Amino acid sequence: MFKRGLLAVLTLLALLLLVLVVRALVLPAPALSSRVLPSLPEQDRDAQVERLAQAIRFPTLADRPEAFDAFHAFLAEAFPFTHETLSLRPFGHSLLYHWDSGHDCAPTLLLAHQDVVPVSAMAEWQHPPFDGVVDERFIWGRGTLDDKVSVMAILEAVEAMLAEGRQPACDVWLAFGHDEETGGAQGAARMAAWLQEQGVRFELVLDEGGMVLPGATLGIQQPVALIGIAEKGYISVTLEAHGEPGHSSRPPAQTAIGDLAVAIARLQANPRPAGLSLPTRYMLETVAPEQAFARRLVFANLWLFEPLVVRQLAGNPETHALIRTTMAPTMLSGGVKDNVLPATASAVINFRLAPGETQESLLNWVERHLPEGVSVSIKEGFFAEPSRISPANSDAFERVASLAQALPGDPLPAPFLMIAGSDARHYQALSENVLRFLPVSLQQQDIARFHGPNERLARNQYPDMVRFYLGLLSSGSAQ
Ligand SMILES: [Zn+2]
Repeated sequence: MFKRGLLAVLTLLALLLLVLVVRALVLPAPALSSRVLPSLPEQDRDAQVERLAQAIRFPTLADRPEAFDAFHAFLAEAFPFTHETLSLRPFGHSLLYHWDSGHDCAPTLLLAHQDVVPVSAMAEWQHPPFDGVVDERFIWGRGTLDDKVSVMAILEAVEAMLAEGRQPACDVWLAFGHDEETGGAQGAARMAAWLQEQGVRFELVLDEGGMVLPGATLGIQQPVALIGIAEKGYISVTLEAHGEPGHSSRPPAQTAIGDLAVAIARLQANPRPAGLSLPTRYMLETVAPEQAFARRLVFANLWLFEPLVVRQLAGNPETHALIRTTMAPTMLSGGVKDNVLPATASAVINFRLAPGETQESLLNWVERHLPEGVSVSIKEGFFAEPSRISPANSDAFERVASLAQALPGDPLPAPFLMIAGSDARHYQALSENVLRFLPVSLQQQDIARFHGPNERLARNQYPDMVRFYLGLLSSGSAQ
């Protein structure tokens, strides 16, 4: 009897192993129509780099409106064909261009933002952030990555096509916001609302987001071109604790500051549940065929190994944010004097919501963990639930992916969950396919240059960016 039972168990195990191995072996490699980037005349490249450097010299910061006006005058001068042919509708300092193709097919919308974040740690900058210094290898300054560089590269591509007398297959719209870094309410939100009023529906909306990064984090040799198909949400809450004011020589068991500390510690000790959201699952499945066999076996059988994979991603600071709603206590205040009991103490916690999380589910969880006397409220300002997830098997995705694959280094395009926010979320209602990809190739440590000191772009990458957008403008669903 015992023997027969053992035999049954062994047979089942053998079958399971067989299923796992077969699934790993039959993994299809991604079949992309390989595309090459359009060529760009060699002599144009230095002029393009110089125009980008000039663009960097306009300090397009939220509190410098005059810099935007000057930047716009510069654009009109730098891209004469574009400003002659495309119609331009300003929304405050945001710019919405329309390139009429004369064809009746679903248009493409390219997004980028003109504004840049303020400069911190000035002493650490090797070159001043708004000087637009170009040396042997790099173009330096605010906006060379995030993402005035795209405003310029897109306009270079449009201008290059017009100079050759070429038209896009379907209409192209360009929306360059001026307040992305502060939430996009005056720029992207208004442009998106206007487009919706006009009834425009896009085949593809492309914004900044993922990039080409080393594949090592995902266990592969080849670089990966991460194409965002969704972005996490953003909510900040204020926790407030109240206490009896009085003299600190006769303190209660816990002051308002102690209560607040308990609240934060409890939330951190009970993180939101971890799991593989659809974009992360797609990403792992896409890189699976390139993995060594053991990992391939795991990624091809996420139905069984998800908990193992989640634990691994959670343990790595570079991937931790992909698998759950994260919390970061970012501000703290309370107390006025060392010997006075604080009447109130408060903290701000910034949450980034994973797909599936809602404002309601998050607040319920916060409230469940608060000790008595501590309350929670949503902090005013920027707020967004997680974005909709765009399909990763659409023609629009393939259009971006096949061009990303043609970038230097032979990157493998993979869908991805963007953990930061972008203007793209304002355009969700206008297209099934809202994708987030910046055609630059960076090392992991370069990520700190976004919003950090020494933002820069390698000179040789800029012409490839222009070629990427040129490829995008030359493609479309009309052929
Ligand atoms: Zn940006």
